[in-house]
Amino acid sequence: MTASDNYHGFELGPIRPPSEASSLLLRITRNCPWNKCKFCGLYRGEKFSLRPVKHIIQDIDTIRFFVDQIQDVLQQTGTNYQQVSALQADLSASDQLAFHSALSWLRGGMKSVFLQDANTLVMKPAGLIEILEYLRHVFPGIERITSYARSQSVARINDGDLLRMAKAGLNRIHIGMESAADDVLDFINKGVDKQTHILAGQKVKRAGIELSEYFMPGLGGKEFSTANALETAEALNQINPDFIRIRTLAIPEAVDLYQDVQSGRFTPLGDIEKAAELLLLLDHLEGITSTVKSDHILNLFQEVEGRLPEDKLKMTAPIRSFLAMESDQQLLYLVGRRCGIFTELSDMEDTELRRHAEKALAAHHVTLDNVESWAAEMMQRFI
Ligand code: SF4
Repeated sequence: MTASDNYHGFELGPIRPPSEASSLLLRITRNCPWNKCKFCGLYRGEKFSLRPVKHIIQDIDTIRFFVDQIQDVLQQTGTNYQQVSALQADLSASDQLAFHSALSWLRGGMKSVFLQDANTLVMKPAGLIEILEYLRHVFPGIERITSYARSQSVARINDGDLLRMAKAGLNRIHIGMESAADDVLDFINKGVDKQTHILAGQKVKRAGIELSEYFMPGLGGKEFSTANALETAEALNQINPDFIRIRTLAIPEAVDLYQDVQSGRFTPLGDIEKAAELLLLLDHLEGITSTVKSDHILNLFQEVEGRLPEDKLKMTAPIRSFLAMESDQQLLYLVGRRCGIFTELSDMEDTELRRHAEKALAAHHVTLDNVESWAAEMMQRFI
């Protein structure tokens, strides 16, 4: 690939949602324009910048080039992936990145694209629309284009521009709501309030774009746990997002919230209290048709998934059972889950898994007294 106009080649950002595992990752902006949420250390110390539209167009052309090359070799050799690998000899580092992106996207069916990094919708609508149209033109088989966005940025976009983005092909947005309790939003420095969350969510829905909202059990700490559940449920009821995704709070040492824990300004919830908070939220989701997803390793129950309202009882049953269990059984589940032995509560009925969990419990010397600090430490390994 040739470099021009300060173009330094194809780029990749650090993260994508779990649901975008087979997507092409296309970096539109670098890092996070806000970068102040106390629980988040993802882009700490990294400067935000918008990438020029023409550079992103070059990234799209680069992917098209490698997809064509790979498809040619596969056709000529009868799907010989060893011959495909030979194509990367002598490529620059950024072209290798593009080559591997093209190859894994091709293997994933080339149906979806995820726009990175934290808040693509902060860029001017005209530029984003140009990128979306070009992407759809070069790859007409794409079925879904998704982006992260902050509520604050979405709320500033007028309905006409959002509709144009939808028409140009942006058909799913993930918003990190985390909480809709103003006390919580204020404390964790989210830079948005409940009303703006609601306004932004409703705007996305009105534009006909599929909406995922993230909820973070534990983010209110002990002080605002009830508000975190109830206020968030109320906002979600007003938005009716297509997806509600659960992502339980963890507090690694690198984030500002860790200092608040050390100084006593924030009292974290234990896993049992987080489970009760999640149940409180689910119990108060009313009159909506969202699909709840628990697709993150930090969540205590992977099986808390389903469509509202019909799956509500099925979703809440394992949480109720867990909360009703004897404390020694709760302890065993927590250890099994945090060690990656259990994925859901019913795994406790599996004799083999149960034996593994009992061994882990003994090996880690976990007791009712130290389980909270032990679990917090274990969760850091998954961030
Ligand atoms: S807006 Fe998102 S990426 Fe940016 S600091 Fe907050 S949580 Fe992190």
